[in-house]
Amino acid sequence: MINPIFQKIIQILDNFPDIGPRQAWRLFFWFTKQDKKFQEKFLNYFSVLISKLNFCKYCFFPTIDEELCSICSDNKRDKKIVCLVARETDVITLENLKKFKGAYFVLGGLILPFENKEIIRERLKILNERLKEGNIKEIIIGLPFTKEAAPTKKEIEKILQLYKNIKIKYPQKGIPSGGEIEFIDPETLQEAFDL
Ligand SMILES: [Zn+2]
Repeated sequence: MINPIFQKIIQILDNFPDIGPRQAWRLFFWFTKQDKKFQEKFLNYFSVLISKLNFCKYCFFPTIDEELCSICSDNKRDKKIVCLVARETDVITLENLKKFKGAYFVLGGLILPFENKEIIRERLKILNERLKEGNIKEIIIGLPFTKEAAPTKKEIEKILQLYKNIKIKYPQKGIPSGGEIEFIDPETLQEAFDL
């Protein structure tokens, strides 16, 4: 008989993306074998995260208690250049290149049947409002180079065509079609994004 607390933990882990029940159990057993110090650290950091989690009001990247993330609050970054990305992990990938000096706008996913389209539509509305304010001069379409991203790109283009004097960049040079940003090698990514 498996302890109900174990079952509850497995149910939670099973909800994480790309984690099935088998991996959930593996993670669980791995965790039980770590020392107390590690387990407490895990608990502490997650409890800080849960109590203080916020999202940057400009780009929607998660923050701890801050209104703006470290990128958006950095005066050296050019907020007139905005790179639109589908996911937070794309920000991490592009930031690892240490070349991009603009800001980001995280859509929170793609318009797909199994994703929460409401968040994306809401964010596209906010993007539209932001463009109306007239401070953005350049948009880089940093969405995945996949067929799945096409409906989202179409929605974005519908908005962008209202703003004729905004420069729109499509990174694509050297990028294999079907590529997810996080799986493209840094050199290719840098060249495609013209960084
Ligand atoms: Zn931000």
